[in-house]
Amino acid sequence: MNTGPDIVASGYVVMGLISLAMAFVLAFLVRGRRHRVTPACPRCRYCLTGTASTTCPECGHDLSESGVYLHGRNRWPRLIRAIIVIAMALLVLLPYRYVTLSYWDSWATNMFGVPASWAGSVTGNVMLNPDRCRDSQITVIYPDPAQHGFLPATSPGDLYYWNPPEPVRVMMVQADGNRRDYVIESVSSDHQRWEIRRVQPMVGPAGPAFSADPAVAERPEDFYRVIGERIDRDGDTAPGEDPGPRVAATFAQIIIESMLAEDMTFTLSWRPSESGAVAHSSINSAASRSTNRPSTQGPWIMLASWFLFWLIVLLIVIAPGSPTDPWEPALADPGTDSDD
Ligand SMILES: [Zn+2]
Repeated sequence: MNTGPDIVASGYVVMGLISLAMAFVLAFLVRGRRHRVTPACPRCRYCLTGTASTTCPECGHDLSESGVYLHGRNRWPRLIRAIIVIAMALLVLLPYRYVTLSYWDSWATNMFGVPASWAGSVTGNVMLNPDRCRDSQITVIYPDPAQHGFLPATSPGDLYYWNPPEPVRVMMVQADGNRRDYVIESVSSDHQRWEIRRVQPMVGPAGPAFSADPAVAERPEDFYRVIGERIDRDGDTAPGEDPGPRVAATFAQIIIESMLAEDMTFTLSWRPSESGAVAHSSINSAASRSTNRPSTQGPWIMLASWFLFWLIVLLIVIAPGSPTDPWEPALADPGTDSDD
């Protein structure tokens, strides 16, 4: 039964055999073959054994000028050799492109550690029940737009690239229009510790009594409690009384966990204590993985290396060959130099 790897492997075997055959042909083009008759006229290949004249008895060629084929090897005409090499180069271009581009992709991945980037952003919105919560709306944006120099409401087609984990922005809007913005950010290399701090609102003026006052969740299990308590601290209700901060904490936790799992499909689920506070919620993921970043230079490297390689092969193959030996049977003094 043919499985995927078998097909790929047999593909490489076929490519290897074709390469081997090409190498033989190229070697033949460079070396040529031994002359079947020697000495021979270089123009018509007539056998000159026994000929005392310096002109070919068959075609009248001046052998003292050209010399004769004696020890050299006979190669195909230069034009034919060139055409064969160019045909080979064109034939291997597509397989070469396929092999090298995928190779460079993995090479760039290993080298720079950028297997793929994310593009776009994730925006979540919660409308809160006004009779139960101090805040009327919560917006969660990932990645934090302020870090990337774009505003969330601009055109959705605007792409920018990022790699998880990026900071998450939580925006709380009160019924009276006051805003509190928070940024939740990884503060350890293993992304287990996250810090939440208050920041200047991205939209509108800062609320009263602004203080960054960061709080750190030491483990993912602490996200919900630490984020909720930190937001609650800026409220004017007794701790735990307002469900809004805990809704925000749940929302932020859903996004952070999805981001760390590199999975931007979301399931919103509220804890029983929050469900009565949420009037409406939605999450819109315009984020997608983009995998073509490392290969942007690949096609040019591929083309350049292909061109260079075959140019060298072509030059070797069309280099002058089939050397002739001097033919001066009529001359009495064999010591003289042959002419140019
Ligand atoms: Zn001849």
